[in-house]
Amino acid sequence: MNTPYRLPDGRTPRPALWADVPDEQWDDWRWQLTHRLNSAEDLARIIHLTDEELEGLNAPNKFRVDITPYFASLIDPDDPDCPVRLQVVPRGRELKAFESMMEDSLAEDAHSPVPGLVHRYPDRVLMLVTTQCASYCRYCTRSRIVGDPHAMFNRHHHDLQIEYLRKTPQVRDVLLSGGDPLTLPQKILEDLLRRLRDIPHIEIIRIGSRVPVFMPQRITDELVEMLRRFHPLWMNIHVNHPKEITPELARACAKLADAGIPIGNQSVLLAGVNDHPDTIKKLCHELVKIRVKPYYLYQCDLVEGSGHFRTTIAAGLEIMEALRGHTSGYAIPTYVVDLPGGGGKVPVLPNYLISQSHGRVVFRNFEGYISTYTEPTDYQRPKRTRWVPESRHEPGQRGISGLLAGDGMTIRPAGWETRHGLAQNEPDAHPTPATNGHDEAIPLDALLQRRDVEVISDGDGPSWTKVN
Ligand code: SF4
Repeated sequence: MNTPYRLPDGRTPRPALWADVPDEQWDDWRWQLTHRLNSAEDLARIIHLTDEELEGLNAPNKFRVDITPYFASLIDPDDPDCPVRLQVVPRGRELKAFESMMEDSLAEDAHSPVPGLVHRYPDRVLMLVTTQCASYCRYCTRSRIVGDPHAMFNRHHHDLQIEYLRKTPQVRDVLLSGGDPLTLPQKILEDLLRRLRDIPHIEIIRIGSRVPVFMPQRITDELVEMLRRFHPLWMNIHVNHPKEITPELARACAKLADAGIPIGNQSVLLAGVNDHPDTIKKLCHELVKIRVKPYYLYQCDLVEGSGHFRTTIAAGLEIMEALRGHTSGYAIPTYVVDLPGGGGKVPVLPNYLISQSHGRVVFRNFEGYISTYTEPTDYQRPKRTRWVPESRHEPGQRGISGLLAGDGMTIRPAGWETRHGLAQNEPDAHPTPATNGHDEAIPLDALLQRRDVEVISDGDGPSWTKVN
């Protein structure tokens, strides 16, 4: 007989300060928001603050502090190294500058055609819809705008963002983020989702939110009923340590999952919080148990205030080495570095491919077992597929995939020709011009820079077509 899935029951124990708060109030997300802790005096009522925490809390220009009573109740009041506490209680060291520190380390502002809309990748956008969060993480990548009441996104910005999306048919995937979209009034969120769903080329909508973790009370039946009307809708939550996985979070995730919303988790690798293989493995196992797929493990960005949270890349690789083969593939996130300067996410993983010759590839597994995969010698990739008639438009962003498809021979840094004394139009600088249906030939390098043109290579050489 099958054992039915049993949701964890019970509640996270509350500190004495809130012991007498009736459950109906505690379970009301509005009560949680209005009773957030944001000063040394507030926090001293539930934890024994260290001198360094007092220094951080009393600093004049610190990143905003706000902690929901629910999340504060996960903090160990006597342990300054508590992994929950480290994420939300400021310390003096966050005021220290470090090498390569930046305000906008991912160059999001430079990739925003309209305020709050980051169009970095060919087919998807990040849509920042609010600057407010339920609580504030000390390592926040967007601390330049998040929590700032003067940097709000309003209806006018939302209109500009939606208008850009209407006019940009290559976008098929929109990620709502901020700040935290689930802190928006439900009517505004619903209106945004409806307007996005009205755009025919937008295939999926994702919501990035830490609200289920900071304030699971917000995941009400009413909210979930509204969200499920906008499928396909995906959600990524943000849990960094197994301590954050409580019966309340499990029940919130169950509501979302039961409404057909696939849930992923993004963690940030943080020194002192989760930088040990056993911690991440335990976290991943606990996530899968509440039906959340570990999705990304981020290297901490080079953002102001986060210097003391940063680890080496080696620490991340050691964690990944301890996961692959040692646990289910479903429980393994992709470890990524979001490249400073706006290069986007790149995956980082241990080297499993050891060597390669014509027809043979040598791999090692997680145990160190070495084996050879013998490749077919007569394989040829199909020139095109009957099942997907058209390539998606990625003007100017075909990258290495474009080189493999034969779009060109090289990708060169800006100014490379000048530095090496090559004239822009010398034949060897652009060995393969692309033609369109009217035999109009344009050098590939020039085409790849244009957003209004799509370059396709089907093995018979590159061709181009105008897309907008
Ligand atoms: S929830 Fe996300 S956006 Fe908000 S403070 Fe934390 S990291 Fe920043």
